Amino acid sequence: MIEAQNHIDGKWSTKGSVEIHSPSNTTEQIGTIPDAGESEIDAAVRAAKKSQTEWQRLGYAVRGNLLHQAASRLEANLDLLAEVATKEMGKPILETRGEAARAAAILRYYAGEGLHSVGDVIPAAKADTLQYTTREPLGTVGIVTPWNFPLAIPAWKLAPALVYGNTVVFKPAELSSLSAYVLIDLIADLFPSGTINLVLGKGAVAGEALIRHESVNAISFTGSTTVGHHIAEVAVGRGAKYQLEMGGKNPVIVADDANLTLAADMVVSGAMRSAGQKCTATSRVIVMDKIRSSFTDALVQRVKELSIGDPLDARNYLGPVASQAQQEKVENLINTGAKEGARLLVGGSRASNVSQYGYFVTPTVFDQVSIDATIAQEEIFGPVVGIIEAHSVEHAIALANNVRYGLSASIFTNSLDTAMEFVNGIQAGMVRVNEETAGVELQAPFGGIKASSSYSREQGRSAIEFYTHIKTVAIRPPKA
Ligand code: NAP
Ligand code: MG
Repeated sequence: MIEAQNHIDGKWSTKGSVEIHSPSNTTEQIGTIPDAGESEIDAAVRAAKKSQTEWQRLGYAVRGNLLHQAASRLEANLDLLAEVATKEMGKPILETRGEAARAAAILRYYAGEGLHSVGDVIPAAKADTLQYTTREPLGTVGIVTPWNFPLAIPAWKLAPALVYGNTVVFKPAELSSLSAYVLIDLIADLFPSGTINLVLGKGAVAGEALIRHESVNAISFTGSTTVGHHIAEVAVGRGAKYQLEMGGKNPVIVADDANLTLAADMVVSGAMRSAGQKCTATSRVIVMDKIRSSFTDALVQRVKELSIGDPLDARNYLGPVASQAQQEKVENLINTGAKEGARLLVGGSRASNVSQYGYFVTPTVFDQVSIDATIAQEEIFGPVVGIIEAHSVEHAIALANNVRYGLSASIFTNSLDTAMEFVNGIQAGMVRVNEETAGVELQAPFGGIKASSSYSREQGRSAIEFYTHIKTVAIRPPKA
């Protein structure tokens, strides 16, 4: 049992009474969290604001060193982090182990990133004037995260915010609050009081108070498009900087000349790992008519072999989805898919054979999905993939682009011409050739276009664009 607490101004506050049960076994209570509201958010924001100048003055080297120490703490506790995350949101243990290691690597990356140059020297009209740009922190940043990457997403927001001199108030998804608590508990004492504040509560209450707080200078959000667009409105209304990473409906195109074994393997991985609950999950497979039946056979055969069950057992490829609401949403979309005329090839039912006490959904493949179908347009966020037929690469790209999202996309082909046609024509922030739609590396920019993003980028060097502002300086020597 983990009794999670808020962390405000360097102090852990009272435990809460909201019970958290495992999605793999709802009879097992795994912890409790507080139900924080406006007053806790206000206290956390005040603490963050009060400590920010001192944190900024410490300088990059000290802040980077603290991030290195924090990374070491995570590295020494990968199993703990993985187990909590797996129990809490149901992602298979090998995936959460990898995610925990990724979180540590992100901290290390930004520990070093803080030492890179931050500006330019720009010629001035007067020869004796030194004109240059530097970067300054925004102040206090509100961080709002989803439950599907309970360790990596917090890390890739916290680390750049901190290294560039901001203080933070972090409100994780309610469904990943235990993971967030364990993560912050491992590292918080390394940092000055008030630098990292964690507030656990509901999005509509604690989250809402955070995004509206006048002393929160910027908000970094990952989650659904609906909540993201609401946050944008609030932020614009009070002049706060914001960054949104949101939903996806990521396509894979399988060209005539593709390596079908590779394509089928990568579609399974992209669509079914994390039970399809990745923003970059493969949700649509657009297949050339000539190879459709051979590709479909290869895909269905693989999907039938996937083992689903206890995510703590490393032999299982899929665990449950994260919550009852998630299970119901996915099942409704599966039913809608069938009603709207798509052909169910495998799956399509509640995996009640696994356990009646967990939110298991059988991995599902639909064929003959029409581009206007609900399951071709709406993010499903479950282990479901739909096959759409195309007659040419051009047609496939047009179908791929015919959605409101634009996060990631990939193509399988052996032709450089086809690959380049795709790279140039596809509307997505992250484009991959002969790779699955998920899995962008931590040192490369991450983000989408259209309804997937506010067009800012996270990870890699691009994080500096959000977490700092540019100050332009001109210095002229006083007359002798
Ligand atoms: P969500 O419902 O939008 O929630 C995201 C976060 O916002 C949670 O912390 C939530 O708190 C909080 N929140 C809810 N209402 C709020 C409000 N009025 N004001 C401030 N905060 C509020 O998303 P989710 O269900 O956690 O995650 C799934 C979604 O995330 C999917 O759409 C997925 O595509 C997207 N996602 C995108 C990316 C990406 O990088 N593009 C990555 C991962 C996930 P509560 O949980 O307490 O309600
Ligand atoms: Mg939600």
